[in-house]
Amino acid sequence: MNQIDKTTHWQNIDQQHHMHPFTDTADLNARGTRIITKAQGVYIEDSHGKRYIDGMAGLWCVNVGYGRKELADVASRQMMELPYYNNFFQCANAPAIELSQVLADITPDGLNHVFYANSGSEANDTVVRMVRQYWKLKGQPDRSHIISRHNAYHGSTIAGASLGGMAGMHSQGGPMLPNVAHIMQPYWFGEGGDHTPDEFGLIAARALEDKILELGADKVGAFIGEPIQGAGGVIIPPATYWPEIQRICDKYDILLVVDEVICGFGRTGNWFGSDTFDIKPDLMPMAKGMSSGYLPISAVMVGDRVADVLINQCGEFTHGFTYSGHPVCAAVALENIRIIRDEKLVERVRDDIGPYLRKKLASLADHPLVGAVESVGLIAGMPLVSDKKTRKGFEKPGTVGTICRDFCVEHGVIMRACGDRMVMSPPLVISHSEIDEIVEKATAAFDATARKIGKM
Ligand SMILES: *Cc1c(COP(=O)(O)O)cnc(C)c1O
Repeated sequence: MNQIDKTTHWQNIDQQHHMHPFTDTADLNARGTRIITKAQGVYIEDSHGKRYIDGMAGLWCVNVGYGRKELADVASRQMMELPYYNNFFQCANAPAIELSQVLADITPDGLNHVFYANSGSEANDTVVRMVRQYWKLKGQPDRSHIISRHNAYHGSTIAGASLGGMAGMHSQGGPMLPNVAHIMQPYWFGEGGDHTPDEFGLIAARALEDKILELGADKVGAFIGEPIQGAGGVIIPPATYWPEIQRICDKYDILLVVDEVICGFGRTGNWFGSDTFDIKPDLMPMAKGMSSGYLPISAVMVGDRVADVLINQCGEFTHGFTYSGHPVCAAVALENIRIIRDEKLVERVRDDIGPYLRKKLASLADHPLVGAVESVGLIAGMPLVSDKKTRKGFEKPGTVGTICRDFCVEHGVIMRACGDRMVMSPPLVISHSEIDEIVEKATAAFDATARKIGKM
């Protein structure tokens, strides 16, 4: 079969048998699947041989870039030595053990224990069970309520979807988990009105205090938030936000859960978003960049306060997964972290390539469609607007974003549209000239979008 025939062959099977995640399948079938066949560095290639520069690092996860032989070698060696064994029944495996020490080392002070899972969603399910069990053991079982934010993303299992603040997810497969409440997000550009960002950051944080008082402080077990909301559109909170959230959690003795699934492992120019925003998490779920997506693995870092209770007062904690601490995934995560360390990728994001991305993206600030250019390290968001001055969006939210996303693909750059926010989170190994290429192609796509909707 030649390439065209092969693509059609795969597309036909895909259409007949494969249900894609977060996809309108009827719409997909009408358009046909784009089949990605290989990848190297920061480029992916489809079955027609067309190359794209990957401005998203897959799904915010391929931090060390594609085609890293070190990771393949480690996986292969570990598979031959011990492809699987569980961590139940008094057993453990060396990669999982060694990884837990490394994680305790690189995560913020006070996080010294790790519980393994296989996805960000499972990590957040684990968080819910830990929070509620912790308070039960503390003699306060009523503290079962968890407060999150609108437009948060915490995964797609029933707990993940419930913790998340995505209306479209709450409307399917419910009822959602009980005792989860949502407060406003710290999205100044979209919701800040005439307030300064700093004023608005305090307002958004104080919504937490209002909700705690509404529910009763003795009913609330935890607050959960992403340092920067990823899937929500790369919402970077004003500088006043996290210190105020921390103050409120401390005041009411509420556990602070920081979802580092995207921000972790160098994305923001520090090892963790908690370092960048100076947050002190009690629980810290993480995934994605933990293995650069080469194999599925996630974890919850458990702070000393919670670990002490779960270890010394619980007896058996009746929770875990067949693949918790999978030896091959753990070995790959270890090697991935070694690469990030040895190649000084965190420092590189902070001092070199992060500032360079920011500088290059500034050229888009004058674009007629772009309302703002916001970035921290190698994560960036750009709201598309109908009126730059008033920050006003479009009649039908999401339509222009989708048009722009499709033009990006056509121009050979992968960016994502979250509603009408165009977002970017490239591999941490991306070079200066590759950033230039992304910005050049994105600009062409933004121009094409503006022309299509009569704004240029
Ligand atoms: C992706 C993501 C998750 C869910 O991770 P999965 O591996 O897809 O289950 C949870 N939280 C955040 C912040 C994420 O970005």
